[in-house]
Amino acid sequence: MQIAIVGAGIVGAATAYELAADGHEVTVFEQRAAAAEEASFGSAGLLAPALLLPWATPGIGAGAKRRLWASPSAPQLVRGAGISGLTWRRRWIRAGSDPTAPTLLAALEGLGRYSLARTRELAQLFDVDMETSRGTLVLLRRPEDMEQLQPALQLLRDAGEILHEVDADTARLIEPGLSSDAPLAGALHAPGGEAGNCRLFAQILRHAAQEQGAQCVFGARVQALSSGAASLQIAGEAAPRRFDAVVLCTGLASAALLRPLGLRLPLAAVHGYTISAPLREDSHAPQGSVIDPLHHLTITRQGQRVRVSGGAELGPAGGAQHAPTLQTLYLALSGWFPGGALTSSPQVQVWRGARPTLPDGAPVIGTSGHAGLWINAGHGACGWAQACGSARALADLIAGRAPAFDLQPFRVQRF
Ligand SMILES: Cc1cc2nc3c(=O)[nH]c(=O)nc-3n(C[C@H](O)[C@H](O)[C@H](O)COP(=O)(O)OP(=O)(O)OC[C@H]3O[C@@H](n4cnc5c(N)ncnc54)[C@H](O)[C@@H]3O)c2cc1C
Repeated sequence: MQIAIVGAGIVGAATAYELAADGHEVTVFEQRAAAAEEASFGSAGLLAPALLLPWATPGIGAGAKRRLWASPSAPQLVRGAGISGLTWRRRWIRAGSDPTAPTLLAALEGLGRYSLARTRELAQLFDVDMETSRGTLVLLRRPEDMEQLQPALQLLRDAGEILHEVDADTARLIEPGLSSDAPLAGALHAPGGEAGNCRLFAQILRHAAQEQGAQCVFGARVQALSSGAASLQIAGEAAPRRFDAVVLCTGLASAALLRPLGLRLPLAAVHGYTISAPLREDSHAPQGSVIDPLHHLTITRQGQRVRVSGGAELGPAGGAQHAPTLQTLYLALSGWFPGGALTSSPQVQVWRGARPTLPDGAPVIGTSGHAGLWINAGHGACGWAQACGSARALADLIAGRAPAFDLQPFRVQRF
């Protein structure tokens, strides 16, 4: 089949690779000059356990007392969020206690597990180092912090994920750089946890797709999709281009592209930050990844850099950087791993990105309902962790094969 992929973030790059590897004639249209320039640019890098990622789904990290206005488990409304931000935030909070939430959580666990296996398989096949680090430690400041994670923990354990509850001393043996002064009641250790460089892998996937015959057209903005046939209109071109299938991997932009076709995807930009600093002293830096569930942040190792990530803001794209959030991230990095990173180096990179998030935290993977138009978008806080699995499953669906996991929970028709 002749297939067009719109968008070359991590999801589009993975989809292009899988479809090209299946023997399709693939063309990727990307508005930017390179792959992974938007949400996939500065991701925190955590691959597993994806369900424990901050802002992975509503309902996790909520704690016993969930409040509508000051819920610490819902993204923060910032200047310019407007009524739409407020409404979306309410949907997110409600979704956490929806009767369907446990089913969706189980489906997300399955997607995360499958995707991790596929990511590892591809990294091995390409024989590349994607700055992988192994092991994830969830830092518990207070014994009751564990309570927030219970819905995810049970599912992970039922699925065979090894999760050890360890005391503070053992946590410091696993991550020797952890400060002896930091408040640590204990930790949860996932030896199978993993992090890697999302942007780097997107670029590797793009090259691998090209080696399989895919064409990548950069600087090509798709301005409209057609409802009757699989065709799309590129800005500046006189006539639409026709394909046998079009796959939308446009992250946040998917809602605007689908609206003229009568599909309303309630996507929100949940902005977050990453601060990447050069390594100062290896033994003082994280060896794997840590998650601080109280402050909804992660600290990961990315090769010769340390990356701290957090913040969840509902507001406009061009909004100013939120100084208190950045300060929390700097404090967390130096508080948990003092001397691990050069935070005053001119090479420090501060990035604000938008997680393309749907109110139930799950992506849309499957048909749009319009002939020949497929969607692989809305992966929220877990796009890196879910990209390779989503891409393989969608490629199977397009080929008429049964995907390795049930895609029903990810249908667009749930909205
Ligand atoms: C602070 C932060 C930390 C994160 N940490 C993690 C993490 O640890 N683990 C994890 O799994 N995920 C994480 N994420 C989430 C992850 O980064 C995203 O879910 C993922 O990058 C989404 O990928 P995507 O390909 O769908 O979107 P994008 O990377 O945004 O790609 C969409 C592409 O489509 C292109 N496009 C859009 N419209 C058009 C058009 N009309 N024509 C042509 N091209 C178009 C864009 O230019 C873009 O390149 C994090 C996100 C943030 C913001």
